[in-house]
Amino acid sequence: MDKERKLIIAGNWKMNKTVAEALDLVQGLKRELGAIKEVDLVICPPFTALSEVSKASLDSNIRLGAQNMSEHGGGAYTGEVSALMLKEFSVKYVILGHSERRQYQKESDALVARKAAAAHAMELKPIICVGETLQEREGGLMEKVLETQIRGSLAGLSKEQAVESIVAYEPVWAIDTGKTASTEQAQSAHAFIRSILSGMFDEPAAKRIRIQYGGSVKAANARELMSQADVDGALVGGASLEERSFADIVKNSI
Ligand code: PEP
Repeated sequence: MDKERKLIIAGNWKMNKTVAEALDLVQGLKRELGAIKEVDLVICPPFTALSEVSKASLDSNIRLGAQNMSEHGGGAYTGEVSALMLKEFSVKYVILGHSERRQYQKESDALVARKAAAAHAMELKPIICVGETLQEREGGLMEKVLETQIRGSLAGLSKEQAVESIVAYEPVWAIDTGKTASTEQAQSAHAFIRSILSGMFDEPAAKRIRIQYGGSVKAANARELMSQADVDGALVGGASLEERSFADIVKNSI
């Protein structure tokens, strides 16, 4: 598939996989996807598996991401993990502002923006998640919600940092529900997000920022979603937990 931007497909393993299970999966992914060069591949295991998965993926085309990090560099923040700590395991990406963290940990756009700045300061690429709820979509508020989240969550980033960031459009109603946005819904939301990015930074920068789609992506719908002009990859939850389904998504996206 000829795309303006290189596709980036990331697996968000959420709170799944012991170290042994994580190692099994990464070995399987290396077997299945070891020859893929057309797509940037990222897996985001839980913190507890980062060390071993890092060693296991060192010699491969699979890059490592974390699912969250602290806005702080270090100190008295019990239970938190800093960007520097992630760098120790060769982590390159970090998911920020996932809707589950926005919902359960009450993460705000301002906090996400501070975390994004902290990630860039350590040369980690943030995957910044945005997306509307079903109620917001049905209430005609989708664009307003997305604009607020994008402006708030990328606030203060330089143009250079924005270009090195990834935005993930994840409609909350499509996450872990089996409901996927239609290709038209995904494309129009992505184009809208890019127009906001263009206003915040400029058009050339906005054209370089990769926007992933997330929400019940599976092998059966990956090709159609990825073929949309402004869809530059996927953030995959459930279907990234098994080697066959993640590998098929990647292969169907090329
Ligand atoms: C996610 O949580 O980022 C996600 C997209 O999950 P799922 O693919 O399971 O809907």
